[in-house]
Amino acid sequence: MNAINETPHDPNCIFCKIAAKQIPSGVVYEDEEIFAFHDINPWAPVHFLLIPKMHIPSMAHVGPDHAALLGRMMALVPKLALEQGCNPYPEGGYRMVTNTGREGGQEVQHLHFHVMGGPRPWLRG
Ligand code: 5GP
Ligand code: ZN
Repeated sequence: MNAINETPHDPNCIFCKIAAKQIPSGVVYEDEEIFAFHDINPWAPVHFLLIPKMHIPSMAHVGPDHAALLGRMMALVPKLALEQGCNPYPEGGYRMVTNTGREGGQEVQHLHFHVMGGPRPWLRG
């Protein structure tokens, strides 16, 4: 596992390319370590993906070295969700999903947190 302050990129990874803006996306948030963008195929009125810029393939690859990074990512969600149009808790709210591995339904092998919300009904979920 790479040191936490490194930001390795996988040249074949679509989310590494999105985070590097080599592929355009609807940017929701960006800082040195974290990127968020609109899902290209939204399930809900609000559906964005929150990713680390460094290439961590999945939740299965997360360990103690990533605790601060993941903590910062989680701490961003309430603010970003409201900014993107999720209604306030408790009548509103949102769903966070992290698919992990084949049996977990993960299609893109770069760690990402789905954040979905907005008025029901949703397309899926
Ligand atoms: P997973 O199934 O791996 O949890 O979710 C991958 C998500 O990435 C899917 O919801 C899919 O719509 C989204 N996605 C895949 N390719 C792209 C892309 O090129 N751009 C954007 N914005 N989203 C993508
Ligand atoms: Zn990647």
